[in-house]
Amino acid sequence: MSEIQKMKKKAKRRKEKINISKLEKKGSLTRKKRMRNEIIVVFLIMFLIVGRISWIQFIDGDRLKYMAYVQHTLDRKINPKRGTIYDATGEKVLAVSATVRTITVNPVNISKDDKEKVARALSDIFGVDYESTLKKVSKRSSIETIAKKVEKEQADELMKWMEENNILTGINVDEDTKRYYPYNSLASQIIGFCGSDNQGLNGIEALYDSKLKGDTGKIIKITDAKGNTILKEGEDYESAIDGDSLVLTIDATIQGIAEKYLEEACIDNNCSEGGSIVIMNPNNGDILAMAGYPNYNLNEPYTINDEELKSNWDSISQEEKSNALQQMWRNRAISDGYEPGSTFKLITASAALEEGLTDTDNKGEFNCSGSIEVAGVRIKCWRYYRPHGSQSLREALMNSCNPVFIGIGQKLGVHTYYSYLKKFGFLAKTGVDLPGEAGSIFLPEEKVGPVELRNYFIWAKV
Ligand SMILES: [Zn+2]
Repeated sequence: MSEIQKMKKKAKRRKEKINISKLEKKGSLTRKKRMRNEIIVVFLIMFLIVGRISWIQFIDGDRLKYMAYVQHTLDRKINPKRGTIYDATGEKVLAVSATVRTITVNPVNISKDDKEKVARALSDIFGVDYESTLKKVSKRSSIETIAKKVEKEQADELMKWMEENNILTGINVDEDTKRYYPYNSLASQIIGFCGSDNQGLNGIEALYDSKLKGDTGKIIKITDAKGNTILKEGEDYESAIDGDSLVLTIDATIQGIAEKYLEEACIDNNCSEGGSIVIMNPNNGDILAMAGYPNYNLNEPYTINDEELKSNWDSISQEEKSNALQQMWRNRAISDGYEPGSTFKLITASAALEEGLTDTDNKGEFNCSGSIEVAGVRIKCWRYYRPHGSQSLREALMNSCNPVFIGIGQKLGVHTYYSYLKKFGFLAKTGVDLPGEAGSIFLPEEKVGPVELRNYFIWAKV
């Protein structure tokens, strides 16, 4: 081989070498580019994932957490049984709670295809408006109330429908209670009534609400996304605690008699403003009966008792309706002031005896000439046309003689008289455990002059 051939071969080899390294170089360049692209794609994907996670975590987290909560835990309330109200004998039931049912739905657990069907069934069975029921069933909330205080028969009908239509989740039938008043209008203004959530709204029901109502329980249900219960034992109950019962001092028999005769008397005498009777045990102050006329049916507290108003009910304003109902519910025996009239002469006589100003049978101690002048006004005796003449305290009391008692009152004077009014409890509330007791009708002592005092002694209209 010549030198030239050797050199050519060498050059060729070098060229090949160069070519090979060129190829190698070319190949490594492509790989690098690919790797770089892959890294970019990976970073991009990672960026998207991180972005999405951040969005879920920080921006949309609360909403999603709430949705999961709504879907998985469906708490319902169990209403406690409200305490019973008994009369003084402990045997007659004046107010009692009976078991009824409350129907609720968990909209998130009713499938989209079933919503209309469910709304239709609920509306048919419970007589509720279809459109508003469909709205409730379609809501994105955990629980919606469909019907409160329905009878067992209706609830059974619903449960049968659920079984037949294989809709086993999203509709709840829970026990609830409803208040009944077995004697209807008896002692209505004392007992009062309850609202739709079993809360006392009037009378004893309102005043003793915290004792009567008890503690609400809970049904805690944890479900999966399809509404199937996750808890092994099904629903977890937190039982309700029933309310305490009350025994009143009111005796249902005495109350019934008082109401009967009050009604008769009010009708016979055309008492347009109604009337009241309070019967007390004088030994301990127990109120045995407190009758008010007119009264109302506790089982229908929003039905007005006045026939004329009843016939115009739909045409009067909401305010007028509310006022009329408030009037009907009012316990006049404790919330209305009432001037005692001549019965108050007993108090004047007692104060005078206690002060030693007179005695019961001092013959001729007092004299009635038919009238007496006080603060420039002449007050007549009711028997001015044939004056009582000379009398003892006992006789003056028997005759209800105005001039004698005005005279005794003047001797007592404002200050002493007021000290007796205070001792008898006329200046303060009695503190009877009924809502709405009015204050005293007496003016404060410092505002009482001879004219006011004169009226207090006899309570006569002058
Ligand atoms: Zn007289």
